[in-house]
Amino acid sequence: MNGNWDLTVFYQSFEDPQIERDFARADALIAQLQALLGSGRDTAVLLEEFADGEEELERIFGKLGSYAQLTLSTDAANRPAMQLNDRVMLQQIPASLLDSALSRYLGGLEEKALEAAIAGSEKLRSVAFWLHRQREAARHLPAPEIEEWLLLMSMDGADAFSTLRDQLDATVTVDYRGEQLPLSAARGKAEDPDPAVRRDAYLAELAAYKKIEIPMAACLNGIKGQGLTMIRAEGFDSILAESLYRSNMDQQTLDAMWTACREYFPAFRRYLRKKGELLGHANGLPFYDLFAPLQAGDSPAKTYTVEEAHDILLRELGKFTPEMADFIDHAFKNRWIDLFPREGKGGGAFCAGVPHVEQSRVLTNFTGSLGDVSTLAHELGHAWHNRCMAGLPLCMRNEPMPLAETASIFNETLLANALRQGVDHDQLLGLLDSDLQNATQVVVDIYSRFLFESAVIEGKKTHNLSVDEMKQLMLDAQEQSYGDGLDPEYRHPYMWACKSHYYIPSLGFYNYPYAFGLLFGKGVYAQYLEKGADFVPVYNQLLRACGSGMVADVAASVGIDVRSVDFWRSSLKTIEKDIDLFVRLADERLKG
Ligand SMILES: [Zn+2]
Repeated sequence: MNGNWDLTVFYQSFEDPQIERDFARADALIAQLQALLGSGRDTAVLLEEFADGEEELERIFGKLGSYAQLTLSTDAANRPAMQLNDRVMLQQIPASLLDSALSRYLGGLEEKALEAAIAGSEKLRSVAFWLHRQREAARHLPAPEIEEWLLLMSMDGADAFSTLRDQLDATVTVDYRGEQLPLSAARGKAEDPDPAVRRDAYLAELAAYKKIEIPMAACLNGIKGQGLTMIRAEGFDSILAESLYRSNMDQQTLDAMWTACREYFPAFRRYLRKKGELLGHANGLPFYDLFAPLQAGDSPAKTYTVEEAHDILLRELGKFTPEMADFIDHAFKNRWIDLFPREGKGGGAFCAGVPHVEQSRVLTNFTGSLGDVSTLAHELGHAWHNRCMAGLPLCMRNEPMPLAETASIFNETLLANALRQGVDHDQLLGLLDSDLQNATQVVVDIYSRFLFESAVIEGKKTHNLSVDEMKQLMLDAQEQSYGDGLDPEYRHPYMWACKSHYYIPSLGFYNYPYAFGLLFGKGVYAQYLEKGADFVPVYNQLLRACGSGMVADVAASVGIDVRSVDFWRSSLKTIEKDIDLFVRLADERLKG
């Protein structure tokens, strides 16, 4: 199987003359659309023409940007790709100003005039949600005379802090047993089967953060400080309000979700303490054993070839609908997937849409673990989501973060439940643990991140937070979420330096969408269990609609009320069931 993906759907090479032609076309389109907004033409005609131009512009930017970024993701030092990426980034400023100009134009229209234009045009009806949101955005724009300056200042402000943070993270070395390791390698040891390795790696990791804690704290202060300035310029009450606005979500939904999560923390703590017992800890799980594998005897964990992974995915996900199996097979055979780790390739996994040809590209670092098979199911879920949106105007495909993980979590859950069939108790305990590890991160740890970020933003309103304050706030947040599930002696006061999510400018609270995604995906899966094959077309339509409405409305279209605590309870209950089973099997093992 060819393990490298095919990027010739974008361009033949970085010398391809089409690249220059596309840049020239993008420049011309931006100028043309700016002029169009000031032309005084009939509203409907103007908006139709704008929608067409915007569609073409987005396609061009998508092609140029994805070609550069996908190339860099497997070849980080590729100079032509870096240069192309920088050029695309610079083009974002005029593109972003054009976007704001459209919002100002729509904001200046009488609501009735906009409604009449939409009602009289099929094209405008197909992008009505986008037009309404763009009109609303006019209320959250900085004054036009300072907008460009804010964008330029940010490049050397929060954006530069964010880059520095990534450089610190990538270059600090961890002194592990006399060996100098990158941070990612030391953190990877958290999954080592040897308990002494996990503990030593954790202690070495904490010592390494000491070396970069001052600049890290400065980055976080700088980014949150700029965030607080920006919301004043944009007329938001808080960074959280801005985040909810950009997520198409409301406070009531967030509150309902957190209320249910807090109710289930005792169940998660029961899991953590029981896992601690299995590993010989009397006082809760130490942080360094959160990801410890639970091996059955001396047998090494089972590994899979790519061919086996391909067959499992086709067989198990194909049970949902045969179309899914055909789709996955197509992705494998047509080189949509970059499979294996190699020199210069980034870690992790992701899926990127390639809408100009209605395809996707998936990056993974497959080494044969069960987790790698699950990652493929996850990323191919994103690809399926893209497929369900095929044919829609691009402006209607921007699913907000909370809904972006629906299809990926759904696939993961399908696969996990299938793999539990026909295994013995020891294997089942291991499978449950790997699912519960993940759920604990996404519910309990994410809640601690939400608390921490809230506290940092509050503090930053009056002063720059010191390293000690940040460490204490993180420990407080872990106490409130993990409670006695974690050993108080071994927590992680530097998680704020570890997670990059806090450092993304203009994207505050990049945490609760994960919890939403997991619990919503599980809730949708529960509907499938209840309704069976009839649910398939409903599910595909739900995915198609993810960028076409507010989150609560999209969910309501499949009968889910995300503003009710009960919906979230029902998702959490499925996790609690797994916890109950885990505890029972663990007790069996403890009794020997
Ligand atoms: Zn994902």
